[in-house]
Amino acid sequence: MAGQINAFEMAQKQFDGVAKLLNLDPQISEVLRWPMREYSFRIPVRMDDGSLRVFQGYRVQHNDARGPNKGGIRFHPNETFDTVRALATWMTWKCAVADIPLGGGKGGIIVDPSSITTPEKERLCRGWVGNMWKNIGPRQDVPAPDVGTTPQMMGWMMDEYSKLVGQYTPGVFTGKPLGGGGSEGRTEATGYGVIYTVREAMKHLKLDPTKSVAALEGFGNVSQYAAIGFVEMLGGKIACVSCWDRNDKTSYTYSHKDGVNPRFLLTIVDQYGTIDQKKAKDAGYVMEDGEKWIEKECDVLIPAAIEGHVNGDTVKKMHNRVKIVAEGANGPCTPEADDFFKANNIFNIPDFLCNAGGVTTSYFESVQNDMNFYWTKQEVLEKLDTKMTSAFHAVLDMSLKEKVYMREAAYMVAIDRVVKAMQLRGWI
Ligand code: NAD
Repeated sequence: MAGQINAFEMAQKQFDGVAKLLNLDPQISEVLRWPMREYSFRIPVRMDDGSLRVFQGYRVQHNDARGPNKGGIRFHPNETFDTVRALATWMTWKCAVADIPLGGGKGGIIVDPSSITTPEKERLCRGWVGNMWKNIGPRQDVPAPDVGTTPQMMGWMMDEYSKLVGQYTPGVFTGKPLGGGGSEGRTEATGYGVIYTVREAMKHLKLDPTKSVAALEGFGNVSQYAAIGFVEMLGGKIACVSCWDRNDKTSYTYSHKDGVNPRFLLTIVDQYGTIDQKKAKDAGYVMEDGEKWIEKECDVLIPAAIEGHVNGDTVKKMHNRVKIVAEGANGPCTPEADDFFKANNIFNIPDFLCNAGGVTTSYFESVQNDMNFYWTKQEVLEKLDTKMTSAFHAVLDMSLKEKVYMREAAYMVAIDRVVKAMQLRGWI
């Protein structure tokens, strides 16, 4: 996402650009350029061998004018306060563009989760909550899993919080396992959400989805359900998917003469998104270099793996049939790629709109926890479709009205909503 640039400086720079377009009062900008509250704390943990290790923890609450802060907790060895600040800021805009009544937050611990044992992880999770419990909660700040954290960890954290406040409070963390307060439809949510926005973009561009072809980067949670949705909801065809092979430490593109069957690939992919090469070959799949996905003849490109792969170099290899780039991943396209899209009239669905299905369903999870009443998968997905569709059209309308590109329009919609909430509350 940030490369050599400090991620928080980048988040502020993006904000400054849109603040200018919106003619925002510089004093209001000064409020929004910075997180409202930041926590930095040390977490002592007794390790299995009896020694004591002290970990660095963070939580940043960027802006809660529209509702409780929302955002993941990352366990990462290179975590920094500035990364957490940037991610918290982006969460404010993502929740606002999705029009869910939540603000932006993010947390983290500097740790490589694969370097500690399961009991040590549990003590670390409980230690994070021990520091933060007074400043989080269903009405204050609702964390969730993120890089390096899992539904099981959310279960431990929710348990620790419930013990400390003296009552069962499932709505304090989302991304919990099903049966432990989690929501139906969360697994499909981000990928299907991507496809709801692609469907609306195709209507706008008057493209026939049943004659359309997509190429996807990645075959993890987002890409799997985006691929399934593209075939089953839109009736389109998949030219290829790619994945990073954990065993070979290299990436491959998988295609098939009859089109990729994502339901079949789902049966031969592991939990980290690595496709079983032998089983794929036996089923007639062709394997090529991992970079090839971007060159395939298709109408829709869905980068849904990692950041920065659609950049100044790779973007030139795109087939000239491509009409839509739907950003399933966070930050997959660089500013140089954006310039190329603008110059070539390619419709871009920016990440914080395109992949907002995940956070929207997390919001549904906390609503269900609050009511202690749970919806079916179909109800969750219908509500998600309604939310994603209206978010898409709010951004498209802004883009057409202000004659700006979709990414700028999404920022404009989001920042405008947060400013209005601050005004309504008398903060500014
Ligand atoms: P995941 O770990 O389930 O899958 C990632 C996939 O990308 C795997 O198939 C992996 O093999 C592949 N990959 C990694 N490096 C690659 C490379 N160099 N070339 C080709 N493929 C590569 O992750 P995910 O949950 O699907 O998330 C993907 C992206 O979407 C991330 O940017 C994430 O932040 C973003 N995102 C995810 C969600 C969610 O709900 N899962 C929500 C919003 C945004």
